[in-house]
Amino acid sequence: MYRKIASTTFLLVLMTFSAVAADFDTFFMDKTMRVDYYHTGIKGEEIISLDAVYEEPACALLGKQLWSGSKVNLIDTLNLGKYLLKVIDTRTNQMIYSRGFCSIFGEWQTTEEAANGIYRSFHESVLLPYPKRQVQVIIANRDKYNKFYDIFSTTIDPESRFVNRESHVGNLKSAKIMYNGDPSVKVDIVILGDGYAEAEMDRFRERVRHYTKLLFTEEPFKSRKSDFNIWSVEVPSIDSGIDQPRQNIWKNNALGCSYNSMDSPRYVLTYENEAIRNIASAVPYDQIYILVNSNRYGGGGIYNLYSTCYDKDEGEQTSWWSDYVFVHEFGHAFGGLGDEYYTSDVAYSEFYPQGVDPWEPNVGIVANGTVKWASMIKKGIPVPTPWQKSLYDSLSTAIHNLDRSRSDYADQQKQISEQMHELLRDQKYWNHVGAFEGSGYASEGLYRPYLDCRMFSKSLTGFCPVCAKSIETVIDFYTR
Ligand SMILES: [Zn+2]
Repeated sequence: MYRKIASTTFLLVLMTFSAVAADFDTFFMDKTMRVDYYHTGIKGEEIISLDAVYEEPACALLGKQLWSGSKVNLIDTLNLGKYLLKVIDTRTNQMIYSRGFCSIFGEWQTTEEAANGIYRSFHESVLLPYPKRQVQVIIANRDKYNKFYDIFSTTIDPESRFVNRESHVGNLKSAKIMYNGDPSVKVDIVILGDGYAEAEMDRFRERVRHYTKLLFTEEPFKSRKSDFNIWSVEVPSIDSGIDQPRQNIWKNNALGCSYNSMDSPRYVLTYENEAIRNIASAVPYDQIYILVNSNRYGGGGIYNLYSTCYDKDEGEQTSWWSDYVFVHEFGHAFGGLGDEYYTSDVAYSEFYPQGVDPWEPNVGIVANGTVKWASMIKKGIPVPTPWQKSLYDSLSTAIHNLDRSRSDYADQQKQISEQMHELLRDQKYWNHVGAFEGSGYASEGLYRPYLDCRMFSKSLTGFCPVCAKSIETVIDFYTR
């Protein structure tokens, strides 16, 4: 009897395993479908309208079409992102693929412009493994309690003439910067450059090598280096540099990157989604990183959309700032991490509805004496966890009040920053996971897991244990 049960169990395990492995081949081909659409609205109102459906081209470097995402983890279990793509097999009504993501529209909806009822449209794309038969593609958004509700649905026949099969890649030069194997079991990052003129492509190549090296000196990326592939696609711009609207500087740059996105001076984004997707389609990718040819501080990172980072800081005191930005922004775009920093004069941020636990794994509310990362907090550490917040805030205000136009600005900034770091290091709960008030742009009501982290201070500090663990979970999702 015992033996019989044992062998049945064994058989069941085998069957479950083969059913999971077969899923991809049952429903998908080894290539990529891209669905482009416009996301239009104002605060509290949104509509999605279909633009076009594409079959992504073959990768010239690998000599074939392929799906770069996991072929095993087809259903998203990470629960990150404001939006969710769902793909349903219409014959069986079964969900066969899903993926969480964020969008520029989603962020823009929190701006004053959106609140004032000025309608805007943003171009967006979702990628999915190429379906073998008709599918229903659904996009869902979170309500203020973070529950998903559907906002768009369309049916796509993958064999129809409505799928555009032309290649947009042209003769762009692409390169394998670091190749560790089959893209479907690796995290594939494509690095693009914006604002590099033809004569500056050598500089772009040098910066790609620099940042690739940098990323893998940081944990958890360092230990997981063999789980990544790095690609680049070269796109020379007509002009050198990118737009700086506040300085009235305008450039003809290939990818449309600009400072002052959402009217925030150092926020670098591009709204030219279609151009970026067309260029990136030259190689398999899970993540897009755009380096911008500028030595002015700036960057941006949106979960599962892209990261941007300025090229290099030329200042003697600030030469490491771009290295800080590069990894920080990737924390947003790849790990779905939130900003742990806050401004002392913003009690509650508009960005996160009050009293609701954000979906970001490293920004949380404390309710009933607990927080979502409680399993990582050692016994005996109080929640919320005390720290000298008001003293820290007064130093932060002092930095904020410095005159940026003074020649000794960087020196003064550095001096106060060091005091702030010392203060953090002097705290009783330094190097312990807890729940420290001040996070997600809000001085009150939101908590961060650690006193310092790459998502908290402008420094070369590593990711805190909660952020590092979240990033590892995402790496596992792509590679296992
Ligand atoms: Zn953190």
